[in-house]
Amino acid sequence: MYPYKLPILSFTFDAFEPIIDAKTMEIHYSKHHAAYVDNLNKLLENHKDLHNLSIEDLLNQIDRVPEDIRQGVINNAGGHANHTHFWSILKKDGINQPMGEIKECINEEFGNFDELKSQIIAAGLKRFGSGWVWLVMKDARIQIISTPNQDSPLMHGAIPLFGIDLWEHAYYLQYQNRRAEYLENIFAILNWEEININFLRA
Ligand code: MN
Repeated sequence: MYPYKLPILSFTFDAFEPIIDAKTMEIHYSKHHAAYVDNLNKLLENHKDLHNLSIEDLLNQIDRVPEDIRQGVINNAGGHANHTHFWSILKKDGINQPMGEIKECINEEFGNFDELKSQIIAAGLKRFGSGWVWLVMKDARIQIISTPNQDSPLMHGAIPLFGIDLWEHAYYLQYQNRRAEYLENIFAILNWEEININFLRA
C-alpha cells in the first residue's frame, strides 16, 4: 500500500554472476526499479482514495485510476510489480528444473519442460522492443504470454507464475544484442520452489 517501497533483496548484486553481472543488477534495482516506485508515489500523492490498495489491486482495478494519470500508473505500478516479482523468482544455484505440482502441469500442457522453455524463448524473441515474457495462470490454465513495456499480466486477469524482463536494461551490459543467449541462460537461475508456490496460490 501507499507509499510503495522497494523490496529488500534476499541476495547481493553479484549473486547471479556469471549469468547476470553485478553492475546490471545494481543499476536495475537501485536505478530502474527505484524510479518506478518513486514515480508511482508521486503520481498517486494527491489520490488518497487509492492509497489503501496493494500494488496488485491497483493493477487489477486500473479503471479506478483517473484517466489523466492512468498511463503513468500503468507504467510505474507495472514496473514496480513486475520487478518485485522478477527478483522473487531468481535464485542462485537454482535446481534448473520445475519441481512439485507445477512440473506435472507443465508436462500436461506443453509435453515437457524443454518444450515450455523453447516456447518461452521464442515468445521473448518475438517481443519487439521492450516488455516481458510470462508463464501465467489464466482461465484456469497455464499459458505463455508477452506484455509490452511495463504492462502487468494482472491488468489482463492473468496471475504471473514467472516473468522474464526483456528490456535491454536487464541484459545489455553483458549480452548487448544477444537476447536469445540471455533468455537461454536465465533458466539456470529460476527459483522453481517459488514458482511452484505461485502456481499453487494461483
Ligand atoms: Mn527491468
